[in-house]
Amino acid sequence: MCGIVGYIGKRQVFPILIKGLKRLEYRGYDSAGVAMINDNGDLSVYKTKGKVADLERFCEDKDISGTVGIAHTRWATHGEPSSVNAHPHYSESKNIAIIHNGIIENYADLKKKLVADGVKFRSDTDTEVIVQLIEYIQTRKNVDLLTAVRFALTQLIGAYAIAVLDKRDKDQIIAARKQSPLVIGIGEDEFFLGSDATPIIEYTDKVVYLDDDNIAVIRRGEDLKVVNTLNDTLNPEICTVDLDLGQIEKGGFPHFMLKEIFEQPECLENCMRGRINVEANNVTLSAVIDYRRQLLAAKRVIIVACGTSWHAGLIGKQLIESLCRIPVEVEYASEFRYRNPVIDSSDVVIAISQSGETADTLAAVNLAKDNGAFVYGVCNAIGSSIPRDTDTGSYIHVGPEIGVASTKAFTGQVTVLLMLALALGKEKGTITNEQYSKIVSELCTVPEKMKSLLKLNDRISELSKTFTYASNFLYLGRGYNYPVALEGALKLKEISYIHAEGYPAAEMKHGPIALIDSDMPVVVIAPHDEMYQKVLSNIQEIKARKGKVIALVSKGDDTISKIADEVIEIPQTLECLEPLVASIPLQLLAYHIAVCKGKNVDQPRNLAKSVTVE
Ligand code: GLU
Repeated sequence: MCGIVGYIGKRQVFPILIKGLKRLEYRGYDSAGVAMINDNGDLSVYKTKGKVADLERFCEDKDISGTVGIAHTRWATHGEPSSVNAHPHYSESKNIAIIHNGIIENYADLKKKLVADGVKFRSDTDTEVIVQLIEYIQTRKNVDLLTAVRFALTQLIGAYAIAVLDKRDKDQIIAARKQSPLVIGIGEDEFFLGSDATPIIEYTDKVVYLDDDNIAVIRRGEDLKVVNTLNDTLNPEICTVDLDLGQIEKGGFPHFMLKEIFEQPECLENCMRGRINVEANNVTLSAVIDYRRQLLAAKRVIIVACGTSWHAGLIGKQLIESLCRIPVEVEYASEFRYRNPVIDSSDVVIAISQSGETADTLAAVNLAKDNGAFVYGVCNAIGSSIPRDTDTGSYIHVGPEIGVASTKAFTGQVTVLLMLALALGKEKGTITNEQYSKIVSELCTVPEKMKSLLKLNDRISELSKTFTYASNFLYLGRGYNYPVALEGALKLKEISYIHAEGYPAAEMKHGPIALIDSDMPVVVIAPHDEMYQKVLSNIQEIKARKGKVIALVSKGDDTISKIADEVIEIPQTLECLEPLVASIPLQLLAYHIAVCKGKNVDQPRNLAKSVTVE
C-alpha cells in the first residue's frame, strides 16, 4: 500500500504534494517521490529512499516550479525499497510518469513480452510495467494518452490506483482505480488527488470517490470527466467530506498514537451519538432497523477481519453469542477468502476494517456476497470500499486514525459490535430488559472511566522504564479479556519490536509456563469478575516461577496487589465492557515502552497503516 497525491491548477504544486504526502505517510514510508511538469516544460521526477522529509531535502536544489504534479510515498511490495524502485516511474522515453498503489499480479508476463519487444526497464517493480505498457500502446497504435491508458488497464490483473502525467500535455492528469482507493478533490479551477481525503480537505470539501474500473480525465479548466475502460462517460457522485484539519494533526501530542489513545473518551461518545439514548434506555442502529429481517434470519454470524480488527471480532463473537444466542465464527479474512468456506444465504458476515480498504477483508466481503450471505461492514473511513461493497453496516465514527498501531479504532469497533449485539438481542428477545438496561447505562459511563484511566499516563510511563530490558512478554486474560491480551501483545510487538504473545490465562499451563523465569514480564488482566479466583491462581503460578507480574486489577483490590510486582488499577465495570477499559493501560504501556526504547511509534518498521495489498 502507499499514498498517492496529485494536483493540477493555478498554485505551485510542490508544496501541495509534499504536504499531502506527509498526511498520507502512515500508508507507507520506505521511499517517496514526485513528478511534475516544470515551468520550462520538463517532466521532472525526483525520488529517494526514505521518508517524505528526505525527499524534501533531496529536492532543495532542484527545479520545483510548476502547477501540475503527482507524488507517492511507497510501501514496497515488488522490489526492495530504493531510489530506483521508488515511484514515480518513467516510461522508457521519459515522456510519461506514473504512480501506483497496489499490485499487478501479471506484471512478470507483461514485462517479458515488452522486454522481448525491446522495451528497457529500469526498476524491479510491478508498477513500471504499467507505464511502459501505456507508452508501448501509445506509440505502436498512435493513440492519445487516455486511449492508451484504457487499453493498458484491460491487460492488467491485480489492484491499482494510478495517476499518470504526460510531458506533452501539462493540462492533464489521468487517474484510475481498481481495488485500491482514490479520491479526487474538486476546487475552483483546480483538482486534487489523494489515496484518501486527508491531503484534500484543506482546499476543498467536494470530492469524488472513484469506483472500480473508473478512469478520471482531470483537465485544467474543464469539468471532471470519468469514463470506463470502454470510454463510456459515467456520472460520478460529488460528495461533501466532513473532516476538519484538527482531526488529522497532532494537536500538541508527541505522536499520533498518544493523541489517538487520549481521544478515546470523545471517540466513544461520537460513536454512540444518536445511537444510544440513556433516558429512553435504547440503542438504535439504523442498519438494524433497515435490515431487521435479514439480520434476524441469521442462523450463523461469521466475522472476517485482520490484525487488531480480528481481535475486536473475537470480542464481538462473545457479545453476539451471549446477547443474541447466534453462533459466531471469527475468521482471518486472508484465510477465509482462500479456503472455499461453507457459507450461504442464512449467514450474516460482519467485515471489520478501520480503513475499509483492507484487501483481504474486501475480498472476503465479495466472496461472502457471491455465496448469498448478507454482509455487514464495521469501518471507520467514510466512503471507503468495504462500506460501499457491503449490504449495510455501521461506521465507528472515531475520526481519522493516523498512528499505524490501531488504538481508538479498536475500542470503536468493540463499541459498535456491542451496540449491534444489544440492538439485535432486543429484537430477538434473547436479552432481558434488565440486562439490556444495565449494559446500556453502564456503557454510557465508559468514556468517563476511560478519562480516569488516562490519568495513569505518567505512572505507566515511569513503570515502562523498568521493562525496556525485556525481549519477551506474555499477556494473559480470560473470557472477554483474552482478546484484550492478544491486542495488548500485538501493540507491544508492533511498536517496540519486543516479542510478545497473548494467551488465555488458563492455557498457560499447557506450554507457555515453560518460558517463565525472572526475566519474563507477564501482563495479567485480572479485574474483579467471575474469573477472578481463577486468574489469581494463574498469577500464583507465575510468581512461583519468579515471573514478573504486571496486573490490571479492579480499584481497591488488595489481594493481587500484594503478590504482583506492579499493579494498575482499572475502574470496575460489567464484564462485557471490560475490554473498553482494560485496553487503555495496555495501549499506554506499549506506547511508553516503545518511546523508552527510542522507536518510531507512529511509523514502525515494515508496517503500514492500511493493508491494501494481499
Ligand atoms: N506494487 C508497487 C510497488 O511495490 C506499489 C506498492 C504500494 O502500493 O505501495 O512499488
